[in-house]
Amino acid sequence: MRILVTGGAGFLGSHLCQALLTRGHHVICLDNFYTGSTHNIEPFRNDPNFELIEHDVTMPIDLPVDGIFNLACPASPIHYQRHPVQTLKTSVFGTINLLELAHRHGARILQASTSEVYGDPDISPQGESYWGNVNPVGIRSCYDEGKRAAETAIFDFHRQYGVDIRVARIFNTYGTRMAINDGRVVSNFIVQALKGEPLTIYGDGSQTRSFCYVDDLIRGLIALFETDDITGPINIGNPQPITMLELAEEIRVLTKSTSKITFLPLPSDDPKQRMPDTTLASEKLQWSPMVERTEGLSKTVEYFKNMLQTI
Ligand code: NAD
Ligand code: UDP
Repeated sequence: MRILVTGGAGFLGSHLCQALLTRGHHVICLDNFYTGSTHNIEPFRNDPNFELIEHDVTMPIDLPVDGIFNLACPASPIHYQRHPVQTLKTSVFGTINLLELAHRHGARILQASTSEVYGDPDISPQGESYWGNVNPVGIRSCYDEGKRAAETAIFDFHRQYGVDIRVARIFNTYGTRMAINDGRVVSNFIVQALKGEPLTIYGDGSQTRSFCYVDDLIRGLIALFETDDITGPINIGNPQPITMLELAEEIRVLTKSTSKITFLPLPSDDPKQRMPDTTLASEKLQWSPMVERTEGLSKTVEYFKNMLQTI
């Protein structure tokens, strides 16, 4: 198949491109390099089945494709909040442009949606039928509401034009190829611990997240894409919550770091808890995460050790 991966030079996108190439597909990676980098696609840049297009998804595009994975969108709060209007346009205009492309060519489209559609959830774990608790006018809204509007567009294109859709709600994922300046908690803590700098906990560290290793996530996305008679939305994530204080401790131990912990103000609307109900993924996709946090974190620590040595 000719598969378009938007956001293909980013953290998740580059792993997805590589996995699709391994499965024998022709992969077209489209990226505007807002947070992505050529370093991420270096390992397969010269594969004859790989193409790179520099383009912004907020602008329409036409090219023959059989499948689309729409991952284009900054995912780290510091990056999506830097240009909030562009973030909103990326999710809304970008997704509509790609839905029109899918419609024109009869292609299947998978949307990288997010657990952020649940906002600051007042139930736990979060199942797909939960409608969420989202502030429409806060600093996270450009991302949360953008992704929610994208889901609306996807289901309307499906109902109105019969576009073949898949919606994955991705929960916090970490691993190799995260940027050193990504700003999300796992990469921040690891880089800080390796440099001997204080680990920055926002708030009192009692908030929870459930972290999925990138290899598990990519396996889940491909399983969803390849499964017939399912649209989603479907949660893909690891249902093992941990507080940010516990995560900081785990990373200090893994890196044998003497870094101290420092407490900084909690950004507004920061969700207090997040944990996926993955029953649907396990029933419909026979998917469940396999990589334990210690194993995933160890691989990520090795990655950042190498990165820090080369800069
Ligand atoms: P990332 O920032 O590493 O990757 C995003 C990629 O999209 C980058 O390569 C960036 O340059 C590109 N991009 C941004 N705006 C674009 C535009 N307008 N046109 C073209 N390319 C653009 O983030 P990631 O963690 O790899 O996330 C990938 C996708 O998965 C995002 O859509 C994100 O919302 C979703 N997601 C990720 C997580 C996670 O924990 N990693 C969780 C939920 C959802
Ligand atoms: N966080 C933190 N220190 C950091 C970065 C993030 O304590 O250096 C916290 C953040 O406030 C949030 C959690 O870690 O409660 C996860 O943040 P991240 O940005 O990774 O993802 P998201 O908030 O989108 O789930």
